[in-house]
Amino acid sequence: MSIVNNISEVQQKIAAAAARAGRSPKDIALLAVSKTVPEDRIMEAYRAGLRAFGENKVQEWQTKHLLLPQDCQWHIIGHLQTNKVKYLDDSIALIHSLDRFALLEKLNLEGEKRQIRWKTLVQVNVARDEAKAGLEIEEIQDFMDSVHDFPYVTVHGLMTIGALNAGPEETRGYFRKLREIRDDLLTKGAGGPDGLPHLSMGMSQDYETAVEEGTTIVRVGSTIFGHRN
Ligand SMILES: *Cc1c(COP(=O)(O)O)cnc(C)c1O
Repeated sequence: MSIVNNISEVQQKIAAAAARAGRSPKDIALLAVSKTVPEDRIMEAYRAGLRAFGENKVQEWQTKHLLLPQDCQWHIIGHLQTNKVKYLDDSIALIHSLDRFALLEKLNLEGEKRQIRWKTLVQVNVARDEAKAGLEIEEIQDFMDSVHDFPYVTVHGLMTIGALNAGPEETRGYFRKLREIRDDLLTKGAGGPDGLPHLSMGMSQDYETAVEEGTTIVRVGSTIFGHRN
């Protein structure tokens, strides 16, 4: 299947899952994960109407984004090393992987230096995965409290990968958990003036479940661009 067809199938499935959950499909953004995908294939997705693309390696993003139209919105979705922050610029729409205090400090420092206010999501290890992708649930409240001291970083919600190799119902439980954590944080005053509107959850395997559980951004790679190594 072509990239254009893949995208329209994903969009239809998002709309169907939204309908099942009584949600508007307009409230769910499709982020095309373009890591390892060459520019010409990203352009096919662009021509199909997509503008938001997710990359997980800063070096790869650096070379790629210059070759693509300027109205692309780039999202950083992978582990971000502090020594790579200086290469990012204001074409970064959202950093999904704010996962530690050192990164918060570094983003603020670089943001102040270059007058960029980074939009971020805090990544949470809801599955208590041993690879420790994200903050542990117990750490989040303190982390959210400290964000207020860093004016060049704003948090707009939470992100999780869930668990790789989990069954569908286990995955649903993790997505539900992330939403509950968000709701709980809101009652305790976390987040900016707009609260914590975003939940970034759902990948090729499980984005329909994520839509049913309240995601606002699904991160879909292989289902759009085809399988990769
Ligand atoms: C690669 C990646 C995705 C996309 O995964 P697919 O299974 O190809 O849809 C989503 N989120 C993150 C953090 C990723 O690294």
